[in-house]
Amino acid sequence: MKVAIFNAGKIVSGDWDKGILKADTVLIEDGKFTQIGYENEIHPEKADIRIDANGMVLIPGLIDPHTHLGFGEWGPENGMIGVALEALYQGTTTTVDEFARYEGEPDFYPPNPDGVKASAIVHYFAWKNYRPGGLMKVHGGSIILVKGLKESDFKELSDLGIWKVAQIGGSSDLKPAELLEMASWARKYGMFIPTNFGAGVLKGAVYLDSDFVKNLQPDKLAHTNGGSTAAPWDLTREVMEVAPKAAVELVTYGNWKMSLKILDYLRTKNELHRVILGSDTPTGQGWFPIAMMQGVKFVSAVGNVPAEKAIAMATGNIYDYYKKWINTGKIQEGFEADCVLIDKPPGSVGTDALGAIENGDLVGPAMVMVDGKIAALRGRDSRPTTKYIKLNGKELGVSDPDERQFDPPRFYWKSTGETYLLLNDKQ
Ligand SMILES: [Zn+2]
Repeated sequence: MKVAIFNAGKIVSGDWDKGILKADTVLIEDGKFTQIGYENEIHPEKADIRIDANGMVLIPGLIDPHTHLGFGEWGPENGMIGVALEALYQGTTTTVDEFARYEGEPDFYPPNPDGVKASAIVHYFAWKNYRPGGLMKVHGGSIILVKGLKESDFKELSDLGIWKVAQIGGSSDLKPAELLEMASWARKYGMFIPTNFGAGVLKGAVYLDSDFVKNLQPDKLAHTNGGSTAAPWDLTREVMEVAPKAAVELVTYGNWKMSLKILDYLRTKNELHRVILGSDTPTGQGWFPIAMMQGVKFVSAVGNVPAEKAIAMATGNIYDYYKKWINTGKIQEGFEADCVLIDKPPGSVGTDALGAIENGDLVGPAMVMVDGKIAALRGRDSRPTTKYIKLNGKELGVSDPDERQFDPPRFYWKSTGETYLLLNDKQ
């Protein structure tokens, strides 16, 4: 099965250094990008599925590296599955769960090492088996550090495939020395280690200072702009300095003023490539399926980051820090074919989607693809696009306002791979 997307106005690689590619066409085979170039080199007419991008901008599927997805409808914020689905239809094709939350979850009060282990295992396997919309990639299963965990527990989890520690701090009553010992066990078994810093969120939680972060050398400074409450600026600056290899995560649900300070600071250090965007959804501020694109817009329009660089912060930069476990986030040969066609909304002064983002206009998708399969054309609450794709020659426009907001078409990929099924009979 060959899929071609051609006639793209621009192709944003998602790679920090490459930016916008010299190309207008991509070829996808067996769910991966196999060729990226110009139409006259790739010959899209030979593909089984031919998607005319109609001059719109192709970007990698967005990756949300910071969520707290619950467990099925047990999620304290009900409707989690529907929210994950809508996030997919808005362009988030991969999600990383920091740790799940649900009623009765065994975590910190009282510390329950057997419970947190069991929770990590069940979430890991549940999300491995279930993909919202049949396509979204959710990396569930994170071990919360609590009193009583032993080194052998980390080995056992790692042997099962669980590869990450839940964001350290915020809730834990473990002393820094105890956290560091546990983190060293996690690291021994190759796990990804994100940390909070500053004051704990929950009662009794410890304050994590820059000495702790320096000793830990985390892979990621989780929501550096506050989750949701920002730490003092001096501490924020210090932790970025003492952990130079750590990703600096900015979340849509954090403190936006702090985001701007961090961007300005990293710009002066020439370290903007360390920034990754996430949502931290939900975090006491509700669900937000479009959080990733909102983050891109904010960083670009208000933080003065070129749109293709802001998109890299939500895609390829995340790959760079998570590459041992994911193969998505860049439009590049060999990567999983997760991508989104975006367009400026009608009336935007931007010349295209990238111009609209830089002007502060939120943009919507005209097609979301995962592993070379179309997941959706748009979400229920996405911004309208000016243009539409043509699928094997047929334009898939919007039929009426109801279809725009409440009943967008849904795609299902037949196992034969031959046809798409549309749930909306207006199409
Ligand atoms: Zn969080």
